[in-house]
Formats: sequence, structure tokens, C-alpha cells
Amino acid sequence: MGKTQSLRSLLAQTMLPPNEARILLAHVLEKHYQLPRSALLSRDDMQIHSDAQIQWEDLQSRRLRGEPIAYLVGKKGFHEIELFVAPGVLIPRPETELLVEIALKEISQLNQEVRILDLGTGSGAIALAIAHSAPHVKVTATDQSPDALAIAKKNAALLKLESRVQFKQGSWYESLSDDAPFDIILSNPPYIAHQDSHLERGDLRFETISALTDHAGGLSCLEEIIANAPRHLKNDGLIAVEHGFDQSEAVISLIKTAGFSDIQKHLDLSGHDRVVSARK
Ligand code: GLN
Repeated sequence: MGKTQSLRSLLAQTMLPPNEARILLAHVLEKHYQLPRSALLSRDDMQIHSDAQIQWEDLQSRRLRGEPIAYLVGKKGFHEIELFVAPGVLIPRPETELLVEIALKEISQLNQEVRILDLGTGSGAIALAIAHSAPHVKVTATDQSPDALAIAKKNAALLKLESRVQFKQGSWYESLSDDAPFDIILSNPPYIAHQDSHLERGDLRFETISALTDHAGGLSCLEEIIANAPRHLKNDGLIAVEHGFDQSEAVISLIKTAGFSDIQKHLDLSGHDRVVSARK
């Protein structure tokens, strides 16, 4: 470690892209000095003490090796909430907010107490974003990973949503009965094919492999979720699933086979087909 330096010179010397460097240095300032991010500008001549500088150098080199920013700072914004994230859960993606928006629109058109199921909840992103934005709904969220559920429960507690979201451990519908109580079923399952080279690039290398790929052709989880959805949905209930940019026709065909109607495709912000919704 070099001699003590000002925030300005640390930012000027880093090999990281400027926006990433600012996020990581702001994290160090918050942890060691309880200072807001604006201190990077307003106090840019401040010299940070050696513990803080050691943490900055550690975060910087881990990011240069490819670790995702969200794991390094332990949080990620999603829809209108902030989630704690750590290795063991997928980092919530902006495109997944589409599922939340589709659900909120449906909820606004239903007036009874709405019941929602989020399959493969991971960090709890979808379940908790909906519970946060729609105070009268009840959400059930499942995941097969006890580690993921521990993180999701921690997020529910941090967001004070424990009484509104019930977490159950099991693969997809395994922990549920077959009595069709749900108005809406949502899922962002692993849909990357196992041979897809994206899994070996960038941030994805550090994320939980079972959250990303079905270890097969990419459609096996979607198939299981869609085929079993009618047993858990009320009549007229809505299903919406996220899928890969080139999977929409395959997903529509699975949805048709399962007997759904009112099938709709939804585009993400990059203009890719990203979600299919349909009604029982
Ligand atoms: N439902 C979580 C999310 O959308 C986790 C999804 C996953 O692990 N595939 O972020």
C-alpha cells in the first residue's frame, strides 16, 4: 500500500472505470466515516486512514479480477427497494422489474386480497418489490436453496415485510399444496443453456451457477414451471415468466401446450422479448 492519499488522487489513479471506482470508494467512506457519496466531491481533498485505504485497495483489486460490484458492496437496488445480496443469490437485474410491473398492473385490477407466488425467489427481489408496492397482497416465495432463503428472509426483515411474505423451501411448487389459491404466478428461473459462453464471461462467472443455468438446454425449468402452473392458479389467474432473449417462441409453445389463453409477449428496456404472460 502506498502513502496516504486524497480521495481525488485515489480516483485519478485507479484502473477502474470512473463510475465503478466512485461506487466502491463511496462504500468505503460510508463504512469507515459514515459519510454520504457526495463527500467524494465536497471533501475530495480528504486523506483516508490506513484501514479505509486497505479496504479500498482490496475492493479495487477484486473488482479488477471481475467480482460483481453488487457483491462487493453487498447491495443492489431493484424496483423501489434495496436488497442485500451476497454470493449464493442472483444479483437482481433491471429487466426483472418487468415481472413486478406486470404483477402490479394485474393487482390494480383485482379488488379482493390478492395472492401471489414467486418461484425461485433468490434474494427475494420479485416477492419483496411487490409486497412493498402493493400493501394489500400476500406473497408466497419458494426456493430450493436454504442459503438463498436465508438471504431472502434477511431482506424481508430489513424491509419490514416479514408478515407479508411467506418463504418456503423446495424446488418450484414442491412445498405447496395443489389447491390453486394463487391469482398470479411469477418466476425468473435459470434459463441460460449450459453450453452458453456467457457463463464464462464477466460478472456471471461469480454468480451462483444454479441461479443462471438449468444445466441443460435452457428451457427445462420454464417447462416445469409452466406445465404445473394450472394446478396452483385460480381460474383467470395470470402467469408471467422471464426468459432468454431468443426463447419467446419456445416459451409461448410451452404456454399453449399447458392450455393457457390471452398469451402476451413483453419487451425489456433493451427491446428484447423478455417475458411471456398468459391467463388460465
Ligand atoms: N427471483 C430472483 C431474481 O429475479 C432470483 C432468480 C434466479 O435465481 N434465477 O432476481
